[in-house]
Amino acid sequence: MKTLKSGLINKVLIAGPCSAESYNQLDEIAKGIVQLSPDYFRAGVWKPRTRPSEFEGIGIEALEWLRQIKKKYSLKVCTEVANPNHVEQCLTFGIDALWIGARTTTNPFSVQDIAEALKGEQLPIFVKNPLNPDLKLWIGAIERLKKAGIENVYAVHRGFSLTDNGTYRQTPLWQIPIELKRIFPDLKIICDPSHIAGKSELVESLSQTAMNIGLDGLMIEVHHNPQIAKTDAKQQLSIHQFKNLLNNLIISKTEENVLPEKINILRKEIDNIDNKLIELLSERMNVANKIAQIKKESNLSVLQVNRWNKLLSERIEYSQTKQLSESFIKEIFEQIHKESVRVQDEIIKSK
Ligand code: PEP
Ligand code: MN
Repeated sequence: MKTLKSGLINKVLIAGPCSAESYNQLDEIAKGIVQLSPDYFRAGVWKPRTRPSEFEGIGIEALEWLRQIKKKYSLKVCTEVANPNHVEQCLTFGIDALWIGARTTTNPFSVQDIAEALKGEQLPIFVKNPLNPDLKLWIGAIERLKKAGIENVYAVHRGFSLTDNGTYRQTPLWQIPIELKRIFPDLKIICDPSHIAGKSELVESLSQTAMNIGLDGLMIEVHHNPQIAKTDAKQQLSIHQFKNLLNNLIISKTEENVLPEKINILRKEIDNIDNKLIELLSERMNVANKIAQIKKESNLSVLQVNRWNKLLSERIEYSQTKQLSESFIKEIFEQIHKESVRVQDEIIKSK
């Protein structure tokens, strides 16, 4: 019976340290979280590090520790694999599930090698998104595993490595897992808020967002003493913080057939507004077309950078009086302007 995880029934919960560091470390953490009934206890055995001088994991010896933890606490265990040799070792040591890390998902050759090493096996495989926000690459990795006959394939959203990640270590770009869900409604997608956050203080709020958008579970890094962790020390939760997070988490329903009537009425309003937006965009585009004709006749360039600068700052200024966020309005007008430039360019090029 699930205890603290009770609100998370039907969700997958994976918890444990970033890296396996010693048997005692794994034992302390497993002892601390076993009563929270995680579905899997995680610990990285081979660590993909940016520089070779950093701690790169314990390797095979730690697989033996995981086997002992599994037996002692009746916990299923999982670790990261990056090549067929890792897969083979994990199968030998009875590891219950595997995850493919973000750096590995980026490389179709590696994913294909792993998929082939897994042929005929039926353990769950968790596929982290690639470092870059390339949805097709993520889907491709999942497809390679499915083609190899693996039935239980999960996607793991762990954020994306961009030059400007704002508050986070990795930018969440929630629209990407949402788009993945739209394309494959039956695919289970879980969230790894720890690697998105990079700081333990942000993990709870990211976990709640993941639940709010209806993701199917969480993979959270937990350490009995995060300060001394050999990898990702800043983002790992203490056992106490992890318990609090599970206690505070609110799980919302995702079913569409339990909607209060009031929502249906408001949705009709949204539908009407959206149609008006489309009509306005079409009207705007017609004006842009007329301008393109004149630019063509007068041999003027499509892009008039001063006009574009002025337009953008005026729209942002006006939107401030309407309680709309600057970044939102900026993004929308960048898209509108991009499309205008594309269409005007076509018109000017046309014979
Ligand atoms: C990890 O889970 O510890 C890890 C290395 O994750 P990622 O591949 O998402 O960076
Ligand atoms: Mn980590």
